[in-house]
Amino acid sequence: MQAIDRQTFDYIVVGAGSAGAVIANRLSADARNRVLLLEAGPASHPWSRIPVGSARLIKNPAANWCYTAEPEPNTNGRGIPVPRGRLLGGSSSINGMAFVRGQAQDFDSWAQAGNRGWSYEDVLPFFKRMESYDGGDDAFRGRQGPLRVTNPDAGDPLFAALIKAAGEVGIAHNPDYNGATQDGIAMSQATISGGRRMSTARCYLDPIGKRGNLRIETGALTEALLLEGKRCTGVRYSVGGQLREAHAAREVVVSAGTINSPQLLELSGIGQPDRLQSLGIAVRHVLPGVGENLRDHYAPRTRWAVGAKGITFNDRARGFGLVRQALSYALFGQGLLGAVGAPLRAFVRSRAGLDAPDVMLGWVPMLTEPGPKGPKIARQSGVTCYAHPMRPESKGHIHIVAADPHRPPAINFNFLSSPIDAEITVRAVRIARAVMTAPALAPMRVTEIGPGESRTTDGEILDWVKQVAETTYHPVGTCKMGSDGMAVVDAELRVRGIAALRIADASIMPSLTSGNTNAPSIMIGEKAADMVLNAG
Ligand SMILES: Cc1cc2nc3c(=O)[nH]c(=O)nc-3n(C[C@H](O)[C@H](O)[C@H](O)COP(=O)(O)OP(=O)(O)OC[C@H]3O[C@@H](n4cnc5c(N)ncnc54)[C@H](O)[C@@H]3O)c2cc1C
Repeated sequence: MQAIDRQTFDYIVVGAGSAGAVIANRLSADARNRVLLLEAGPASHPWSRIPVGSARLIKNPAANWCYTAEPEPNTNGRGIPVPRGRLLGGSSSINGMAFVRGQAQDFDSWAQAGNRGWSYEDVLPFFKRMESYDGGDDAFRGRQGPLRVTNPDAGDPLFAALIKAAGEVGIAHNPDYNGATQDGIAMSQATISGGRRMSTARCYLDPIGKRGNLRIETGALTEALLLEGKRCTGVRYSVGGQLREAHAAREVVVSAGTINSPQLLELSGIGQPDRLQSLGIAVRHVLPGVGENLRDHYAPRTRWAVGAKGITFNDRARGFGLVRQALSYALFGQGLLGAVGAPLRAFVRSRAGLDAPDVMLGWVPMLTEPGPKGPKIARQSGVTCYAHPMRPESKGHIHIVAADPHRPPAINFNFLSSPIDAEITVRAVRIARAVMTAPALAPMRVTEIGPGESRTTDGEILDWVKQVAETTYHPVGTCKMGSDGMAVVDAELRVRGIAALRIADASIMPSLTSGNTNAPSIMIGEKAADMVLNAG
């Protein structure tokens, strides 16, 4: 095996998140490849190992970039929080741990737009290769991958009642929404095993810690890409305020995520010329799509009081109940402390005649209230159900506001700027209402808190959405893949017009997948690694 040659590597990967950690693992599997993985955040955080810890990390700058979006009209002028993981594993180390691939049509639409190699048939082998899952059909599911995916226990009476209530309004139970079809309601598959979070740090980096050809540097903020003409030759980064350079003999792969990948391109002089010049940045390469095409899920959380006792987590985590939960977790890795953020979810068609579900609902078996360190369990017992369109058409943008790598970029979502998103959001809230008022839940004495029974018209529901909705933390698309004028990377994820530079993370998605975005981001990492190795 070749020793690491000072500051020259074959490959440099920027960002050790859902995609970057995967790429570093796969590239360094061949001992001849010298790989540098740079991560701005720390190696770990104690709360990142325990599922319940996600609530303690949502506002915690020790492991989170803690961005805030710009105020905009359809958030009623609120600057809504944009948490992003800042540690090994990236957002997979702080996220809600739901495991959702999306629909076959999502990837087929990418391929139909000219991105050869990205149809569902093409990406399915990577989804299978990443995971180790016990259920479902072998045709769709992987058994031997590094990422352990499990199902929460469906025996809970509240979840059983919710599944029955959904059935009463025509939403059937689907045991594997990551299988042949997504339609229906199911317990959330989760990146949790033995009561522990399965981040990409845990599943892709921990097992290979001793590879001599992989250097992982944490606390290493990449400040710029080094360019010689139209070729990327390395990166400049800082550790504890000290500047360093590393050179890539073959390629640099940027996997800094949807917020930071476009930021790094712009800081390096790649993007919209007027914008860069106005900040005093020399234009190295014109790419008007950098930072554009931002999409996210804008989701109101409907809130429901539950009168029957002992059913919700609010009741079960009080007093002696909390001690029981702690014991159950310590002894068996089960219960509240080891649970996925939203243990039940449904994929639903918001109107007849649609080819596939267009709305996702997710149930959290408790009410929370805001606290200084993140959401706290509320005193009132109840259930939260978020509901939103899965493939929003509203597009925003992310751009730097200064030539300073430490200044957060400005995030503008333009939520609900496309009228169809507003329409589907209202329908999604009405579907949540239909399930929560179905006969199966009557014995639990469920009553509506938000939006509130008095809000009945579309306009009233939409006004409420603008007051309360937040993202479900799935920003994508700011370095989109494609061949049109606004594409930033091609179908091989190569930055258009710059040699030896790829982007591989959620930012390359041309459109939002139908569901949560961790699984597709890991798939992108798996596929990108093959592309880099095959280019080889
Ligand atoms: C609070 C929260 C809850 C979520 N819940 C779910 C869920 O339940 N299920 C789901 O599927 N998805 C969920 N997501 C979304 C999902 O986790 C992300 O879509 C996915 O992790 C994105 O992967 P990525 O590789 O694009 O970026 P990330 O995983 O965010 O990785 C980017 C990495 O790059 C590093 N980095 C950034 N800039 C630099 C730089 N300049 N130099 C060095 N390093 C840098 C970052 O610190 C980070 O580690 C959630 C996200 C959040 C934040």
